[in-house]
Amino acid sequence: MERVLAFRKYLILGFILLIASIFLARFFYVQIMVDKYILSANNNVLRYMTQYPARGLVFDRYGELMVYNEAAYDLMVIPKQVKKPDTAALCSLLGIDAEEFRSRLQKARAFSPYRPSIFEAQITRENFGFLEEKLFLFPGFYVQPRTLRKYSFPVAAHAFGYIGEASPEVIARNPYYRPGDYIGISGIEKSYEEVLRGQKGMKIRVFDVLNRDKGSFRDGKYDTTAVAGIDLYATMDVQLQQYGELLMTNKKGSIVAIEPSTGEILCLVTSPSYDPNLLSGNIRKKNYAALLADSVYVPLFNRALMAMYPPGSTFKLVDALVGQQEGVLTPETRYGCQLGFAIGNGKKVACHPHPSPLDLIGAIQTSCNAYFCRVFKSIIDNHAYPGTRKAYENWRKEVMSFGFGKKLGIDMPGELNGNIPSPAYYDKYHGVNRWRSMTIISLAIGQGELGITPLQLANFSATIANRGWFRTPHLIRAIGKKDSLIGEFTTRHQVAVDPRYFEVVVEGMANVVTAGTATGAKLDSVEICGKTGTAQNPHGKNHSIFIAFAPRNNPKIAISVVCENAGFGATWAAPIASLMIEKYLKRTVKRKDVEERMIGGNLINGKYDDDQRKQRDLSQD
Ligand SMILES: [Zn+2]
Repeated sequence: MERVLAFRKYLILGFILLIASIFLARFFYVQIMVDKYILSANNNVLRYMTQYPARGLVFDRYGELMVYNEAAYDLMVIPKQVKKPDTAALCSLLGIDAEEFRSRLQKARAFSPYRPSIFEAQITRENFGFLEEKLFLFPGFYVQPRTLRKYSFPVAAHAFGYIGEASPEVIARNPYYRPGDYIGISGIEKSYEEVLRGQKGMKIRVFDVLNRDKGSFRDGKYDTTAVAGIDLYATMDVQLQQYGELLMTNKKGSIVAIEPSTGEILCLVTSPSYDPNLLSGNIRKKNYAALLADSVYVPLFNRALMAMYPPGSTFKLVDALVGQQEGVLTPETRYGCQLGFAIGNGKKVACHPHPSPLDLIGAIQTSCNAYFCRVFKSIIDNHAYPGTRKAYENWRKEVMSFGFGKKLGIDMPGELNGNIPSPAYYDKYHGVNRWRSMTIISLAIGQGELGITPLQLANFSATIANRGWFRTPHLIRAIGKKDSLIGEFTTRHQVAVDPRYFEVVVEGMANVVTAGTATGAKLDSVEICGKTGTAQNPHGKNHSIFIAFAPRNNPKIAISVVCENAGFGATWAAPIASLMIEKYLKRTVKRKDVEERMIGGNLINGKYDDDQRKQRDLSQD
C-alpha cells in the first residue's frame, strides 16, 4: 500500500517534470537556435556535456559499505572535429592498433559526425593521468568523467548484480536513457535501478575551432546539475555472506539465511560464484563471456533462486503441519514401521531400523518414511472430501500457502516458482480419476515431482520459527535513510495451518539436533532446531539438504543449506548450517575442526569421502 502511494507520488512528480521539460525544451530550441546562428558566424561550437550522477551506495545491515563508486573516464570523440589525427600516438596511449582506431572512428561517424560518441569507455583513474596530459594534441577528443562500480568484498555477486550500457531496446522504451548510459542489468542493481541511478545533468560549453574551451554557454544559464543516486541499506550481513561463500568452496549449492521476524535476508550464497569486480567497467564483456563459457562451475547460475530440488525429508514437516490442520493427525498418533511402508506389488518405501511404533515427535526425530507415508495417505484419503482430487486440491492449497510452488516476491530478478504439481498434471499423466494417494505417495517424503528453491526452503524454516507466518524475504530494508523501511516488506503472511500445530513440530526439530538424524549440527550454547533431507538426483549422487532455525525460542536466524552431490543431509548441509548459525549469533566460530573439514571438502572434482560413500544406512537422512 505504501509502495502504491509512493509510486503515485512519483507518478505525479514525473508528470510535473515532463510538463516542465516540454516547456524547457521549447525555450531551449528558440534560444539556442538563435545562439547557434551567432556562434556559427564565429566558428564556435557548443558541446553538450552530460553530467553523470554518482550511483547510490549500498551498505550492509551493520552499516558496512559494500558497493561504491570509483572515478573513471570515457574518452569521447566528435568525428567532424577530428583533424588528421596522429593515430600512432593515440593508439599507443590506448593500447590499440591502427585498424581498431579506424573502425571505432567509423562507428562513431556512422552514429553522428557532429555528436559525441564514446571512443574508449571507463578508463580507470590510473590510466587516465597519462592520457590527460596529451589530450590537447587531439582535436575532436575529450574526456567525460564517469564512475565505476566497486565492491568492498569479493562476494555476493549474484545479489548485487551488475550494470552495463543501456541496450537499444531499453533506449527505445525509456526516453531517460541515451546511448552510453549505464543501467542495472541484474541483482539489486536492476530491481532498484530508478533509486540508484540518480538524475543526469547537462553542461553546455563553447569551444572554438581549435577545440579550446571558451567557457560556459551563456554563463551556465541552461546547465542542469546531476543529482546523485539514493543509497540503499541492505539486509545482508556481509561477514556472514563471506563466511558462507568460504564454507561452500568447491561445492555446488547454496546457503540462504533469513531473520524470521522481519524476512530480512542475512545471506544469499550461491556456489560456485565469482568476484563482482570482474563484471565492472570495460573488462566486463571479456569476463562475462568467460564466466558464461564455464560449463563445469556454471558461476552465472543463481542456485539460491533458480535451482529446484525435491525437498526430501524436510518436507515431512509439511505433512506434520497439514495433517494436524486437517484433523487426521495428533501429536499422539502412533504408526509402526518395519523397515518401510508397503505400496503394493511387493514394493515398499524403505526405512531404516529404529524403535517402532513412534509418535509424531519421534517420527520427526528419526525421519521415519513409513510414518509420513501414512500421514500423507490419511490427508489424501480423508472422507471429509468428496474424492482424491478434492482432497489433493486442498492439500496443495495449504502447501502453497507456505510460499511453495510460486514466487515469493524477493526484490531481485530471476526467482523461479518451483513446482507443486497440479491435479491437472496428474490427470494428464495417470488419467482422470486414475490416481490415488498411493499413486503419488512419493510426495509424502518430498520426492516425486516436487521442486523447491533454496529461498523457499529458508522461508519455510523462517515460517516454522515464527510458528505460522512469514514476511516476504528481501535484500533491501531501507531506501535513502537507515530507518526508512520499505512498507511492502512489513506485511505478515499467515499460512493455512493454525499456529497451535507448530510447537510439536518445533519439539521434533529440536530432537533432530540433540538426539536425531543431525547431531553433527549441535551447538552447546544455542538450541538449534533442524531437519535433514536428501534429495534424490537421477543424474548422480544425491543432494544434501538441511533446514534449521535458532535459538528455539525467539529465533534470530532461519537457514537452508543445499550441497549438491553430497549424499546425506547430515554429512555436509547440517554442519555447514550449524557453523553459519554459530557465526551469526556468536560472531566467531569455536569449532575449528568442523570448520576446516567443511571448507576443505571438495565435492566438485575432488576425492569424495569414501567412508560416507560406503555408508548405505538411511539413518542419516
Ligand atoms: Zn520408519
